[in-house]
Amino acid sequence: MISVRRPALVLCSLTALAALTACGASADQGSNGSGPAAGLRVVSTVAPITSIVSNVVGDRAVVTGVVPEGTNSHTFEPPPQIAAVMEEADVVFVNGLQLEEPTFDLAKENAPEDATIVKIGDEVLPESDYIYDFSFPEEEGKPNPHLWTDPTYAIKYADVVLATMSQRDPDNADYYRGNHEAFVAKATALSDALKIDQATIPAGGKQLLTYHDAYAYFARTYGWQVIGAVQPSNFEDPQPREVARIIDQVKARKVPVIFGSEVFPSKVLEQIASETGARYEDTLRDDDLPGEPGAEDHSWLGLMRYDYVTMITGLGGTADTLTALDVSDVAPDKADYPQ
Ligand SMILES: [Zn+2]
Repeated sequence: MISVRRPALVLCSLTALAALTACGASADQGSNGSGPAAGLRVVSTVAPITSIVSNVVGDRAVVTGVVPEGTNSHTFEPPPQIAAVMEEADVVFVNGLQLEEPTFDLAKENAPEDATIVKIGDEVLPESDYIYDFSFPEEEGKPNPHLWTDPTYAIKYADVVLATMSQRDPDNADYYRGNHEAFVAKATALSDALKIDQATIPAGGKQLLTYHDAYAYFARTYGWQVIGAVQPSNFEDPQPREVARIIDQVKARKVPVIFGSEVFPSKVLEQIASETGARYEDTLRDDDLPGEPGAEDHSWLGLMRYDYVTMITGLGGTADTLTALDVSDVAPDKADYPQ
């Protein structure tokens, strides 16, 4: 479960965040830490992680995402040309928690010896906090990997990015630290707005029935209840008997809205909606950012604001605080987001 090339990262990232410069203070490459001339090549996987990485590194490194937006990241097999991207990589960030094993394996096989490969989720989530559930059953050994839909973990992701980049590129450590601080402030504002707005949902209503099971950690942190996820662990549609069980559950709990995923359109949810009278909201997204690359809301902040507003308003609340947030990036996002 641990990446093979991670020199000194844990020491630096998790115990010495406050002493980052000391941590990475080896090199005197470059002069004043400006400009992308040092240009570390950073590879990332799913778009929300690419966005978090970009918020920290801005234009001081070349960031390449490799999982196209709108694809099933859980079953994604990187095409052969990604090997060439890995061959050039200085740093590779994957979510870990076994989300993108084929991409991680490709990185291990092709990245240079001195590349730093980081499974971010494995760094920030102790095994005792793993969540196994409907779509990620414990007997299959893969925990729910969706930490980034919870702002408190997204902040920890940014911490790992900062520690890693400051170690690999100490000349730009101050720049990264400034961006990290600004990102943490915005992610915290998002979290605070979420808490305010979710309180407007009628009592007992913070219940999620989703298709794709991407909100387990979010729910634990913010006091929601995931009453079900329709998508089985093989990412196919569920069997008719399971659908019948879900229909009974939706009726019994009087669930007003069921949340589908924009990445996983499902006729089954339409069927559940029509048989229960629940509204089918099919636009949640866990790793496909809103808009096109370059748009202001094409960011982790924009993604999560969109999902929270959709959930809260769908369940009868109001989302004025979230809607008023500025979700633009804190640094120029020059990353490559394959579509
Ligand atoms: Zn997912």
